[in-house]
Amino acid sequence: MGIRVCKFGGSSVADAGQMRKVRAIVEAEDERRFVVPSAPGKRSADDIKVTDLLYQANEAAAAGESIDPLFDLITERYRKIVADLGLDFDFDPVLAEVHDRIAGGAGPDYAASRGEYLNGLILAKLMDRPLIDPATMIRFDAEGRFLADETQEAVAERLGAEKSGVVPGFYGALPDGSIKTFSRGGSDVTGAIVARGVGASVYENWTDVSGLLMTDPRIVDSPRTIAELTYRELRELAYMGATVLHDEAIFPVREAGIPVHIKNTNAPDDRGTVIARGGFEQAPTGRITGIAGRKDFTIIALEKTLMNAEIGFGRRLLGVLESHGLSWEHIPSGIDTLSIVLKSDAVEGRLDDLLESIRSECAPDAIEVNAGIALIATVGRGMSHVPGTAARLFGALAAAGINIRMIDQGSSELNIIVGVENDDFEKTVRVIYDAFADGH
Ligand code: ASP
Repeated sequence: MGIRVCKFGGSSVADAGQMRKVRAIVEAEDERRFVVPSAPGKRSADDIKVTDLLYQANEAAAAGESIDPLFDLITERYRKIVADLGLDFDFDPVLAEVHDRIAGGAGPDYAASRGEYLNGLILAKLMDRPLIDPATMIRFDAEGRFLADETQEAVAERLGAEKSGVVPGFYGALPDGSIKTFSRGGSDVTGAIVARGVGASVYENWTDVSGLLMTDPRIVDSPRTIAELTYRELRELAYMGATVLHDEAIFPVREAGIPVHIKNTNAPDDRGTVIARGGFEQAPTGRITGIAGRKDFTIIALEKTLMNAEIGFGRRLLGVLESHGLSWEHIPSGIDTLSIVLKSDAVEGRLDDLLESIRSECAPDAIEVNAGIALIATVGRGMSHVPGTAARLFGALAAAGINIRMIDQGSSELNIIVGVENDDFEKTVRVIYDAFADGH
């Protein structure tokens, strides 16, 4: 029998009603042995996440103010969950200890981590499973860098001794035992670490949507859900702005080849989205997997006669970027031309200096700068080795009268990136979606 690790996001554990759904989901399958909860998230659009309240309480403490007005909101929130669940659990002493430590200056990481810790205690009680504190196994070095190998070993050893358990998400510990959190949304990372540590057959990531959508629903009305995609496709889509999992959550499971299954706590029978290495039943041949994009890039286009024969041109150019501390996004090139695509906010206020350095190091014949460019990535393993995908994409853009400012296709043929004017961004996404959404 395989082991499934179930991570539940903030909205899945926001109140007692949601926690009952969590219990029903977990108890429906014996394989669901380890549960990783987030802190209580928003119950409605204008609600405040407990993690945010905890950070604010810490700031109040650091400013020498009373944390009580904020901590009262936190206390109320947890007391209500415990009462609504009808648990026989005196939570007040636990809350009092957290209050005193935050007021006493325990710091932002300790404060924020308590959202998950307290929720973990409640869920452990509700499901009658042991609470396993991640501070005993998720490790960071003294500089706060995550120690992947040591952690995986410790998690495997610690959880290997348990039949089941609740492991609060989002944090671990520094060598001196003090608490250290991942970046925001980091419970996803904890879930992946636990999945890898116990050698799970699947990492279930429960949230409030029924999987990853083909594109942004704010741009396209009700886009289709992606049934299956590879880790690499997810990386490409996430990098270009699609959000569903924390960026770093994919690495531990990807290395171990553990599939991630995105599921909806509020609609557990929906199929969701599976992210895996591949080997899916249906190859989406000729089809695309998703479309993602972002606005506000700057393209610096360089031209130089015989650039193709000039050894060292690229190295000098990249050296200039390095010395300015800039990371580039793409470098499409022609025979005598080369363009660098950068995020506009990274070059803001520094463009003249940068161009000056490029002129003196690379001596191009011409430099042209285009700001206000949006990049749209059309991603899909089904595109590789299938003639006609590019024709369909560019044909649709041409028919819609969209002017393409840049094209980049990686040699893996996993994606085609087009650059258009910022104003054409939404229209471009819709045109590409319409060209491919039918799947033919
Ligand atoms: N509670 C943390 C946050 O709000 C971590 C998480 O929910 O994944 O960022």
